[in-house]
Amino acid sequence: MFSYRHAFHAGNHADVLKHTILLAVLRHMTQKDALNVFDTHAGAGLYRLDGDYAQTSAEAADGFLKLVASKPPQGFTPALQDYVEMVASFNAANQWKVYPGSPFIIQSLLSGRDKLKLWEMHPTDTKTLTANVAQLEAGRQVTILREDGFEGLKKFLPPPSRRALVLCDPSYEVKHDYARVPAMVADALLRFATGTYAVWYPIIPRPEAHDLPKKLKTLANKAGKSWLHATLTVKSSKLTQDAEGEVVRPGLPASGMFLINPPHTLKAALKDALPQMVELLKQDQNASSSLESGG
Ligand code: SAM
Repeated sequence: MFSYRHAFHAGNHADVLKHTILLAVLRHMTQKDALNVFDTHAGAGLYRLDGDYAQTSAEAADGFLKLVASKPPQGFTPALQDYVEMVASFNAANQWKVYPGSPFIIQSLLSGRDKLKLWEMHPTDTKTLTANVAQLEAGRQVTILREDGFEGLKKFLPPPSRRALVLCDPSYEVKHDYARVPAMVADALLRFATGTYAVWYPIIPRPEAHDLPKKLKTLANKAGKSWLHATLTVKSSKLTQDAEGEVVRPGLPASGMFLINPPHTLKAALKDALPQMVELLKQDQNASSSLESGG
């Protein structure tokens, strides 16, 4: 357990999808009264795009770095422009050395009245996250909990402000995560029905991954809540062979975000942004996106 390190994946196409959506959600939710944000699987908080981990996998090269290098003649759609500018705010002009993870994206949008709780269980990533957060002037509005995020969320719901966003972004390195996500959301909806819930999941050829958004949709519909489901596919999930006949795994081909009680502004923002993500990040002719809503 805990072999997953987000540093290998920071800035990949899944982060582009997840963090563009996270930012668009927060832009809306931070406009009003005090907000609580709960990030159940936080990671290390900040990543080096020029560091050893990032270069080993080079996933950002096919994700965020490809996006910014593309310079589309018509410009980025507003949600993607906002995302690129947010990452730029962590870097010197025209340099892409640092990539902010969800804790720092969230924190950068909060005002003094808002609170952020972060769960992370990997010993090294908890240490790095703690050191990174300690550099923040507003560090006191952030609490880091080295415990299970699925379980830990329970004691904070409902939050006193009655306004909250829960981001659930597990690594899915253990199969059990696919069952724990809907169980956590079901429990959270009973405790706090009006919260906004955002779940990231990988789209890979295994039944649990396929079933996860269906389970979340059923939960939302049963609770009479609105929902939004966005996916981004950059390439085929099929295994291929290299010149020596060795089987080549494609790496993560696609991912999705499922939101319950999303801001009403989100669908319109993604309607333009998702096709542009496909256009700029596609790796083969199987690239596509989808956007569905209900409730
Ligand atoms: N949300 C981060 C971002 O967008 O920058 C990335 C998170 S990464 C996909 C998932 C993280 O969850 C890993 O750092 C892993 O160590 C951690 N983790 C795994 N199981 C956990 C659990 N039960 N509770 C809290 N954190 C966990």
